[in-house]
Amino acid sequence: MSHPFSFEVQACCSQTKARVGLFHTPHGWVETPRFMPVGTLANVKTLTPAHLKDAGAQMVLSNTYHLHLQPGENIVARAGGLHRFMGWDGPILTDSGGFQVFSLSEIRTITEDGVTFRSPHDGKIINFTPERSIQIQNELGADVIMAFDECPPYPASREAVLKATERTKRWLERCINAHQRSDQALFAIVQGGIYADLRQKAAQELVEFDLPGYAIGGVSVGEPVTLIEKIVQVTTPILPFNKPRYLMGVGTYREMAQAIAAGVDLFDCVIPTRLARHGAALIKGERLNLKNAQFREDFQPLDETCPCYTCQNFSRAYISHLVRAKELLGYTLISIHNVTELIRFTQRIRDAILNHRFAEEFQFWLSPAPDTETVLDEVEINKRSHG
Ligand SMILES: [Zn+2]
Repeated sequence: MSHPFSFEVQACCSQTKARVGLFHTPHGWVETPRFMPVGTLANVKTLTPAHLKDAGAQMVLSNTYHLHLQPGENIVARAGGLHRFMGWDGPILTDSGGFQVFSLSEIRTITEDGVTFRSPHDGKIINFTPERSIQIQNELGADVIMAFDECPPYPASREAVLKATERTKRWLERCINAHQRSDQALFAIVQGGIYADLRQKAAQELVEFDLPGYAIGGVSVGEPVTLIEKIVQVTTPILPFNKPRYLMGVGTYREMAQAIAAGVDLFDCVIPTRLARHGAALIKGERLNLKNAQFREDFQPLDETCPCYTCQNFSRAYISHLVRAKELLGYTLISIHNVTELIRFTQRIRDAILNHRFAEEFQFWLSPAPDTETVLDEVEINKRSHG
């Protein structure tokens, strides 16, 4: 059987390290750079797979931790796997649960073997090990699965981060040994907190395993957003050129543009659907709060340049009305637009790289954030930006 995964770099930017690539998976290809919507519980909140296709989604995420708790990987496997279960026939990536175990659950113990925690649903004690995470992901059946890592919080001491980074490497070896399916690509996750040398050391060690893809994890955990760019810049040059690079949990305009300029290919974030549930639409880098009085009689679309179903058919006034009345359709319409907007942003960057105009056209997003930008707001959103 030929290898079901490959990644080809099709073009490179002459002024930055940005590249355009094509990632082949058993369920189709992903054009990079690209934003991936997050379907934590086997659904991107309020959207159907048809909406996602229209929005330009190529690969979507789902989450091992959440699906293990509910409905359980056995049910997903009996349904024919995650693609069938959620009605999405394109590429899927599952996160390993590492981030969620460390950030969402009441942890009982962390040992070399794994993590024991209490289920937030019924208080049951659950044990996650590298082997268990991979076994669950093998049952779920996504195209790309992630190694089970120890994600240190921010802030954390250098010593604590070093320990977590070294353990993540030992856990990766166990993940590789446990992995059973050749139709799933296992990606490693580079940890190392905000410490440049630890990031580099971790990247160098993980690259030795020659995996089909590499992720930068443990960012967007509450650290100042300006640090994300630095972490990416020191890590990315060490990752293999001919493998996809994925920056986990990041989906804001500036952070994506800067990471793409450093050579990152894939992104995910819950921001577009989370903002939608708060009645906020993303318009060219700004947020419109549709609850504001000014939109009650604003009869123009959210964004007149946007090709999405929402912008082609509805006014701000109508969406504002739905949001104020807490009608579910309001959240769906804003989510359609927000997901389309972030995917289009990465698509536009892709086109700009191909046309040798990336550094020029995206200069605003490649520069440091202006003082007027509400950095605190970004941090607050980033803190909770993972699926
Ligand atoms: Zn739109």
